[in-house]
Amino acid sequence: AHKYVLTKYFEGEPKKSDFKIVEEELPELKEGEVLAETEYISVDPYMRVYMNSRQLPADMIGGQVAKIISSRNPKYPIGKYVSGYFGWRTHAILNPDVRITHPGFIPVTVVPDLGPHPVSLSLGVLGMTGNTAYFGIREIIKPKPGETIVITGAAGAVGSHVGQIGKIVGCRVVGFAGTDEKCEYLEKELGFDRAFNYKTVDIKAALKDSCPKKVDCYFDNVGGEISATIMNHMNRYGRVGVCGTISSYSAATPPKVTIMQPGIVFKELRVEGFNVNRWADRWNEGIQKNLNWLNEGKLKYHEKVYHGFDNMVDALVGMLRGENIGKAVVKVK
Ligand code: NDP
Repeated sequence: AHKYVLTKYFEGEPKKSDFKIVEEELPELKEGEVLAETEYISVDPYMRVYMNSRQLPADMIGGQVAKIISSRNPKYPIGKYVSGYFGWRTHAILNPDVRITHPGFIPVTVVPDLGPHPVSLSLGVLGMTGNTAYFGIREIIKPKPGETIVITGAAGAVGSHVGQIGKIVGCRVVGFAGTDEKCEYLEKELGFDRAFNYKTVDIKAALKDSCPKKVDCYFDNVGGEISATIMNHMNRYGRVGVCGTISSYSAATPPKVTIMQPGIVFKELRVEGFNVNRWADRWNEGIQKNLNWLNEGKLKYHEKVYHGFDNMVDALVGMLRGENIGKAVVKVK
């Protein structure tokens, strides 16, 4: 068994030399425990930020889907798939019955029968990013039919999902993403009303053109200048869900401070940051709802699959650079 240990804090983009791959001894299973072998590991933006707040050396954090290959727990027999935060490791020993009860703990979940779909969806549309989209919409920005939603980071795991729920609710949905190919995918495949390449368009002009009734809800995945511009184009009493600020995560030099308060004050916006862990005790509600939409054909997904445990760092960097459409995952086995 092997695991990644972070030995150096990230500066700018993560590098292979920031990590060590370490061999792990696997102890005998105790009563109630299972041994799970990793199939897919998730690479997510929060890793870039979170690990720099840890005492090093530290095991690399990460969600994964694993198959039970040995079991001393009759409820979790060999062959079942589980997902949870086991880190960047090839094998994990865990007791799925032991629920740590501190607030915000996301439990180990058994992967439901996904029919023709791959188990990796438990890291994306039927996992953490899917729940971020579901609860972010339902509990934070609460769009009503006919309203206009703008999404940044729109072609990524969370953004592409948020836009589709926006369409299910009956909203006008406008996205910003980093390539023309991504924008074409959002409009042609996912039914976004408009999508723009934020690297090449004039953001103000794009908003004026695509949001004739201005913006009621803004789902913010990136932060920075574009967010201030969007807030200035919102309707009075608009709602902003601050999900992430990826434009600042890998910046080698601190980004320029963008003053967002004038838009917030003059439009009387409600701006709320959130962490999906807030809904840990409703975790299965989100997964079930997204699974129903998937089965009804109302929700589509796309995965960027990297291959091999040795390529974890390339996958993390690739996702941070925007190589992915939809969810970025690594197929380990
Ligand atoms: P994505 O699948 O969206 O991948 C990251 C994307 O970010 C890239 O594909 C890239 O797309 C975009 N990006 C990279 N650098 C920049 C930049 N400088 N400016 C704008 N966009 C950039 O990741 P997720 O869907 O997993 O996460 C999206 C956001 O949601 C992140 O900010 C993340 O931290 C946050 N998040 C928050 C959660 C919460 O509980 N609050 C939970 C999960 C995610 P492009 O080509 O468009 O630039």
